[in-house]
Amino acid sequence: MKAARHLCVFLLVAALAAVAQMPSFFGPPPDPNDTKIMAEIKDHSQLMDNLEYLSDVIGPRLTGSPQLKRAHEWAANKFKQYGLANVHQETATIANGWERVSARARIIEPTAQALTIAAAGWSPSTTGVVRGPVVVVTTRRAEDLEQYKGKLKNAILLTADGRGQVGPPTFGEPAPAAPGQPPQQPAAAAPRPERQPQQPDVRRPMEQFQEMARKRDEFFKAEGVAAILRNSGKEHGLLNMTGGGRTFEIAAIPTAFVTGEGYTLIQRLLKRGPVQAEIEITNKVVKGPIEVYNTVADILGTEKPGEYMLLGAHLDSWDLATGATDDATGTSVIMEVARAIKALDLKPKRTIRFVLFWGEEQGLLGSREYVRAHKEDLDKISAVLVHDTGTGKVTSIGLSGQYQAREIMDQVVAPLRSLGLQELSMRSIGGTDHASFVPEGVPGFYCIQDMTDYNKTHHSQSDTFDKTNKDNLLQGAQVMALVAVKIANLSDLLPRKPRPATAPGN
Ligand SMILES: [Zn+2]
Repeated sequence: MKAARHLCVFLLVAALAAVAQMPSFFGPPPDPNDTKIMAEIKDHSQLMDNLEYLSDVIGPRLTGSPQLKRAHEWAANKFKQYGLANVHQETATIANGWERVSARARIIEPTAQALTIAAAGWSPSTTGVVRGPVVVVTTRRAEDLEQYKGKLKNAILLTADGRGQVGPPTFGEPAPAAPGQPPQQPAAAAPRPERQPQQPDVRRPMEQFQEMARKRDEFFKAEGVAAILRNSGKEHGLLNMTGGGRTFEIAAIPTAFVTGEGYTLIQRLLKRGPVQAEIEITNKVVKGPIEVYNTVADILGTEKPGEYMLLGAHLDSWDLATGATDDATGTSVIMEVARAIKALDLKPKRTIRFVLFWGEEQGLLGSREYVRAHKEDLDKISAVLVHDTGTGKVTSIGLSGQYQAREIMDQVVAPLRSLGLQELSMRSIGGTDHASFVPEGVPGFYCIQDMTDYNKTHHSQSDTFDKTNKDNLLQGAQVMALVAVKIANLSDLLPRKPRPATAPGN
């Protein structure tokens, strides 16, 4: 009996072990494509070579600059080398180009101390060196301006709060976020609210803000303000950057970012008494119109070539460094996805389209232009997925409130657990290019990434190749490639929200 009982236990254990090795018992068998894609990207990646070339050799890629044009040409050639189809550039124009020349400032009273500054994008030059008082101006309404009449001759204005917004609204400037969270977005960069008849005035506060900004600029100009200093809001001497005026128009007042250290120093000194400073900003305006480009490349679908899975990143950057983490990383990741899928000849059912956008930093302009130019094709895009939060691992995918796609997307990402992907997020953010698609009803998704040092590097003089991390970026490419192929191979397009009725006046 004893021996027989042992035999039963042995057989039971053996049977369970055999069943455990049959994945089909617990779920679908692993997709052989997944293994191939992961190995191709791990073993034959060109991601870091491309990232280094884009960051170091091409360098900063300000919208409208010759370097950005060169970057688009280089990327298009790479896509062609990788064997992609339909590689082309879609052209738009901007009003003015702009080149940074120099910016310096120092406190001269009550003591002499140098300040580290950098001109905001599209800032005009000062008229040589200007000396004047540093003044904090608080203006919420037009009436607030009157108290400063006659007091601002040659003044260097310091924005009133930590992230100060003396200038007009800015775009593409994610605010610092808690570690592990995607950056918050400024209100100005939030996706356009969906049109609902009961909310006809949703855009009015922004229009009011712009009107206030215009009045304020006129007042400052008439009063002879020398320059505006904005707080970079970062540590360790790092600068921030956005545009100084309306998009691609030259700002009314010379505007510069000062380091957090310089900003708080001036604030402390002002508590003790008057502060005098001098400033000199020199920039070059390149009269437009200037051509800018979205670079597009396809891996054609075998069954439904007219339907798309779209992967995106922005090729433009700010110009204090080389835009390595914002967004040469995302650019190199999607180029690697293109290379790997093409090298494996995976033949997706739908076309996988890769788009490198211009003008993200000035307000998602390239992706908005793409949406405008492809209005007729938007219903054929199954989903858009963007990589644009630097060098950290992809930890989840943000579905931007697209709950109707949740169930299928859960199945899409289920096999990606081994890549460290966590549960999908329904969270919406505004400041990356997927957000241009969401109001049009296209499922626009974004990679949620570990922040690493993104809040330090992005837009700063520290955004350089040495901050990038190979392993994390390869993981991002693996995630994006697997997701792209799976969505391209679904039996149907991803479900989308019902289109809201057209609001009156739109
Ligand atoms: Zn970016």
